[in-house]
Amino acid sequence: MSASKTNGHGRAPLSASSLFFTPLPPAHVVTPGKESHGRYMLTVPWNRVSGWGQPRIGPRQDLSFDPLAGVLQYAVTCFEGMKCYKTDQGDLRLFRPSKNFDRLKRSGARLGLPCDWDNDELLELFAKLMALEAPLVPNTDGSNLYIRPTLLETSEGFGIKEDAFAAEALLYVVTTLNLGKGLYASSEGEGKGIKLDACKEFIRAWPGGTGSYKLGANYGTVNISKKPGYAMSLWLHGKEDFISEAGAMNVFIIKEAADGYTEFITMSLSNGIVLPGITRESIIELLNEHAEGKREFPIQGVPKNIRVVERDLSMPEIINGLEDGTLKGMFGCGTGVVVVQVGEIQYQGKTYQIPSNPLIKTLRDTITGIQRGKIDEGKSWSFKV
Ligand code: PMP
Repeated sequence: MSASKTNGHGRAPLSASSLFFTPLPPAHVVTPGKESHGRYMLTVPWNRVSGWGQPRIGPRQDLSFDPLAGVLQYAVTCFEGMKCYKTDQGDLRLFRPSKNFDRLKRSGARLGLPCDWDNDELLELFAKLMALEAPLVPNTDGSNLYIRPTLLETSEGFGIKEDAFAAEALLYVVTTLNLGKGLYASSEGEGKGIKLDACKEFIRAWPGGTGSYKLGANYGTVNISKKPGYAMSLWLHGKEDFISEAGAMNVFIIKEAADGYTEFITMSLSNGIVLPGITRESIIELLNEHAEGKREFPIQGVPKNIRVVERDLSMPEIINGLEDGTLKGMFGCGTGVVVVQVGEIQYQGKTYQIPSNPLIKTLRDTITGIQRGKIDEGKSWSFKV
């Protein structure tokens, strides 16, 4: 790494060209479709004085930290969830990766972690890691390599510090093979959509909190909060029982408006409670382009008179929509599930059946088609690595 190249604070920037690579031991045999975790990991240390250290890709291994490290004591850790897809032609694609890198920077900044890397440098390192794991990725719909970039404080995070910033941090990336046997496959099997438990006992996020950041601390309590038999909790907030999200998904409802339009309503990001999901953002963009007639290829099956509305949405409004027949469907979306229909909600001891809607499958097929390079949007959403 060149000493003269700094990020303006006299610290070294993250540099893909200084990568150090350690191959797997020759005895390691790859069995495509059998390994559950990627075999390699990328690590880049950071130090407040010297900046980013040498990136390394080598065999996946344990990490060790001081027992008082910020990550262990105060959960100073944030992460991203991304997927690498293989197209029918065999090339590898990431879906809008710079969106995830920017969100990781935002989460890191909330924790006093470094967030000054150049996304193109990080993308170059990702490309090297993906190329090594490529033999594990089947080119079938629903299969992909789940990627978990993680940023955490490795220096002592004990006590109240003079200033908020970490002295040392680590950015690392590991991967897990996903063979499409997750939540979506199970709900599809049932053909009814997933079941959500509208949770009044635990609150995921509140104004001024950290719900809109992807911090490890937001997720550690999730499993304890979820009721058995339900796919996820439907998170509520406020005395009106406003919906924020469902598990690790953003939520949309499909509603018939008084003027005959079909509305796709999703929670506004303005109160800082909802994680700004990349799938959510992509769906909003696609639907808006469709409604404005800007798409060269309109989304098949989606009517022209639609609108996207970002606003608060409460459980009583869902129930009213079921009673008067204006609620036409509900779905969750995120990197994990892509798009999944909600079939049932349990709320205050009652079970509510949500109608199914073919538009949900249409949206899912559109997003997965772009992700796997089958639909060319001409927008570089499906990034070839
Ligand atoms: N909400 C939460 C709480 C999440 O963890 C996720 C998954 N990252 C999402 C929504 C969906 O975000 P994305 O579409 O970027 O995966």
